[in-house]
Amino acid sequence: MLTQDELGKIREENEAEDTWRKYSRHIVADLLEGCAICGALREREHLARCRWCEDVYFCKQGVCAQQHRPKCTPPWPSGRGKGSDK
Ligand SMILES: [Zn+2]
Ligand SMILES: [Zn+2]
Repeated sequence: MLTQDELGKIREENEAEDTWRKYSRHIVADLLEGCAICGALREREHLARCRWCEDVYFCKQGVCAQQHRPKCTPPWPSGRGKGSDK
């Protein structure tokens, strides 16, 4: 049987662990960001932020940026229509 003292100690440890877990989760959330394209969690330095979308990050390496760009930017003007479609 556990004594009252031991129970108290265990409870304290659990609370400390809870606090730590919350704390570390916060840190992780702060350092990691998910790629909006492939869903991979990466450190922010390995992600690029979309210039056009708010809070959209994607992998700096790989094809994620290329996959995302057509979805958020209008097609580049092809020269047609500029100044001629009045
Ligand atoms: Zn990605
Ligand atoms: Zn975008």
